[in-house]
Parts: sequence; structure tokens; C-alpha cells
Amino acid sequence: MTSPIVLASNNAKKIKELQEILIPFEFSIVTQASLGIEDAVEDGLSFVENAIKKARHASLHSKMPAISDDSGIEVDALKGAPGIYSARFAGEHGDDQANNKKLLAELKGIPQDKRTARYQCVIVFMRHASDPTPIICQGSWEGIILDSPQGEGGFGYDPLFYVPEHKCTAAELSAEKKHQLSHRGAALNQLVKQITQLKRI
Ligand code: IMP
Repeated sequence: MTSPIVLASNNAKKIKELQEILIPFEFSIVTQASLGIEDAVEDGLSFVENAIKKARHASLHSKMPAISDDSGIEVDALKGAPGIYSARFAGEHGDDQANNKKLLAELKGIPQDKRTARYQCVIVFMRHASDPTPIICQGSWEGIILDSPQGEGGFGYDPLFYVPEHKCTAAELSAEKKHQLSHRGAALNQLVKQITQLKRI
């Protein structure tokens, strides 16, 4: 497939991950920021709704096919919060430090075996803004929330997200390893398989 695809996100760290995961597939990718497209309003009540809103918005304004990512973390002890509100858990959108601080405060005193959590990622592909059959793919990644941050890599909640199989946090994994294990890697790999089966876009 050679038509350029717009990445419907203005989150630089998320875009970097999406681009890195997509490198082997040789899609022609442009970011919505490079086209001067602002963020969509995320007022859906699920990752799926928000991902569709983002892809539709980017496709509408770029007149190109779009890939979007709506993701977040569900913490069992907080009944699934912050979930779709992960980026703005502490109030301001995208303030990772404040979000992590708030998460630690909310989990204060909760023992390790009750600190289970998972990242969720929904990736949507729309051929055009009124595409009636968007491709929707989902990935998740299980972990445990630590009581203090560890590691410098990744973004968002990664320094608190402990991956038991690898005995380190997501922020201590190499970018390559994170993509192999992550919710985003899983969802995007499924999407690529489905896009490459499309007859035309
Ligand atoms: P979105 O851009 O509205 O989808 O918000 C996603 C938010 O979920 C991010 O700002 C992070 O807080 C969190 N998040 C999603 N994926 C990851 C990840 O891979 N690592 C750390 N935090 C993530």
C-alpha cells in the first residue's frame, strides 16, 4: 500500500512508538501535527469511541486515510480508573509526572498483590472520514503498579508499570522489547495484517 496515512495523534512520545512499530511495514506515514491538524475532542465513553473520533477527525481534515490510537491504564484497585481518562488523570492533559503522583497517592497503603493493572490500546484505521467499516484492533498488557518510579524510558505510567515476566518496569525495557510486549505493539500488529489484506483504500 503506497497512499500516505495520517497518524491521528499529537502526543509526540506515542507517535514515536507508533512510527517505530510501523517501520518494518514501510507505510508512508505523516503526522497530523505536520499538517497543522489539532487534537480531536475526546468525549467518548470508551477507547473505541475515542479512537474512532480521532481517526475520523484526522481523516476529515487531511483528506487521507488515518490511523489513531486511544489507550490508557486500568488499575483494578481503582475499579478500572483512570481508564479512558489516563492522559488527564491529574487534571491537565498529558502531565505524566502529575498523573503518576496521583496514581501513587490513590494506591497508598495497598499491598503489592492488589496493585494489578493493565494497559489497553485500541487502534483504528479509517480509509476516509465517512468510512462505515473502520478497522478496530485492540491490545492489552498486564502489570503491577509499583510504589515508586523506576527507569527513564517509555512515557506516561511506564516507570510505575512493573512487568513481572521481565522483572522490571516498562520504562526499563528497551524500546524494541516494549514494542514486542506492549498493548500498542499487539494492536498495531493486528492492524497491519488487516490493512495489508484490503483490496484498496
Ligand atoms: P490518549 O492519548 O488520550 O490515548 O491517552 C493515552 C494515555 O494513556 C497516555 O497519556 C498515558 O497516560 C497512558 N498510556 C497509554 N499508553 C501508554 C504506554 O505505553 N505507556 C505509558 N502510559 C501510556
